[in-house]
This record gives sequence, C-alpha cells and structure tokens, in this order.
Amino acid sequence: MDRFFKVEVLSQTPNPHQVIYAAMHQDYAESFVWDERDRFPDEAEAGEVIVKHLLAGNRGHYGPLEHPQIVLNCGFFPHSTMQQIRTHRVGISFDVQSFRYSGKRIMDVVEGKRDLEEVFYLRPVGFYSDRQGKRYEYTETLRQEDLDWCLKASERYALRIEQGFSEEHARSIIPFDVRQHWVMSANVRSLMHLLDLRWKLDAQLEAQQLCELIWNSFHAWVPAVAGWYEANRAKKAKLAP
Ligand SMILES: Cc1cc2nc3c(=O)[nH]c(=O)nc-3n(C[C@H](O)[C@H](O)[C@H](O)COP(=O)(O)OP(=O)(O)OC[C@H]3O[C@@H](n4cnc5c(N)ncnc54)[C@H](O)[C@@H]3O)c2cc1C
Repeated sequence: MDRFFKVEVLSQTPNPHQVIYAAMHQDYAESFVWDERDRFPDEAEAGEVIVKHLLAGNRGHYGPLEHPQIVLNCGFFPHSTMQQIRTHRVGISFDVQSFRYSGKRIMDVVEGKRDLEEVFYLRPVGFYSDRQGKRYEYTETLRQEDLDWCLKASERYALRIEQGFSEEHARSIIPFDVRQHWVMSANVRSLMHLLDLRWKLDAQLEAQQLCELIWNSFHAWVPAVAGWYEANRAKKAKLAP
C-alpha cells in the first residue's frame, strides 16, 4: 500500500442495517413502518434479517440498499485513480480538488518544505507488464529519473506562478499523476458496485488499493452486508451489465 493513500469517513448513516430493514419491510408491510420503529430489530439483528431475506439467493431486489449513505474523504491518490473512480455516476457524488485554486504544495516542493512524493505519485519499483503481457522492470534508477522530472516540472510551475500566471493556467504542466483529494458520497448499493468494478484483480493497482481502504470503512459501517459481499462478490469480477 502506498504510504500516503488515505480514506477517512466524514459522515455515515448511524443505523444502516435498520434503514435497509425499514425500506424492505415497507415493501410488504400493511402499516406505516415509522409507527413500528420501536419494534425494529437492533442493528445486528436487522443485518441478519436483510442478509437472509434480501441478499441471499441473489434475487436482485437491491433498492433498499440505496438509502443509507456514507461520505468518504479520499486523499493523496494519483489523478488517474480519481478519473477512474469518477466514472461511477449512479448513486455516487464527488467533489474533487481542482488545482484551479490551489498549488501551494507544488511550490512547497520547490522550496524544499514538502516531500516530492507527497505531491506526485509514481509506482513502486518492481516488475510490470505492458498491455500485450510483455514484462519490464521499473528500476530504482528509472524511478529516480522520473522523480527528477517531477521536480523539474514543479520548478517550471513555480516560475509561471511567479510570472503572474493563474493556478488554472499553470496547472497544464503538472505531471499527470499529481496526487489529488476528493470527497465522495455513496450508498450501500453504489459502493458495492464500485467495488465490483475496481477491486477485481485485473483493476489498476492504485484503484485496488483505494478499494482496500474503502472496504475497511464499508465493513465497519455495514458488517452484515459486507460479510455477504465478501462471501459472494468480492474480487470475483461479478459485474453489472
Ligand atoms: C476495466 C475498465 C476500463 C475502462 N476504461 C475506460 C476508458 O478508457 N475511458 C473511459 O472513459 N472510461 C473507461 N471505463 C469506465 C466505464 O466505461 C464506465 O464509465 C465506468 O465503469 C462506470 O461504471 P458503470 O457503467 O457501471 O456506471 P455507474 O455510474 O457506476 O452506474 C451503475 C450502473 O447503473 C447503470 N447505468 C449507469 N448509467 C447508465 C446509463 N447511462 N444507461 C444505462 N444504464 C446505466 C449500469 O447498470 C451501471 O453499471 C473503464 C472501466 C473499466 C471497469
């Protein structure tokens, strides 16, 4: 795992299993379920009920999972990962750092106040394959050359800012995988869909690592649903059409 990648919970529905239970229960209950809220099963019991009656058997009745929300702050991921994750637009909302208003940390790098690697992402040294399966090695020497390149680009960025350029103009020359932060809100269903597509073993390395961190928050939030997901879908590349 990259030492800077971070996913933190900003907010989450406090009783997600009960909310899913209430939505499911309303589908077949004669009564107005709010009136029964004092008799709802507790969080753990509600979790067991929804796994048994909603999820087991893969019947496709996933609407009740769309009500509980979680808001995550994802930090220090390469720009390319943000692009991949932002393609998921149903049930997920994003606010992404734009580099239109901020660029101070690039200036900090030039002034030696900040670690270059905190600002730019480069893959770790090691063996990789191209799209045709041909292996190549990313050596310490090559990686250092790329770090030097990022420093050069930072120096050019700082020069342009000093020359009076706006951040939105100077950002054009920032190396592609500058690290970026974003806030993302999702529901239980949309987050599992994102994990389906981005946690599978042939997903890009950084997206898999993001999913690993999202998973920790997801599992702590909805343990019963996460248990079902882990047993039935996690990393199995079971994709929606
Ligand atoms: C391996 C891989 C490679 C990719 N490469 C590229 C690339 O090179 N360039 C690029 O731009 N994108 C790329 N994508 C993004 C991809 O095309 C989708 O935009 C992205 O995966 C969003 O996921 P989703 O379609 O499941 O949408 P989500 O927003 O996650 O929606 C969830 C589900 O809702 C339904 N849905 C959503 N929108 C519609 C709609 N408009 N019409 C009908 N049903 C809908 C679908 O069932 C969908 O699966 C790639 C994705 C993967 C996984």
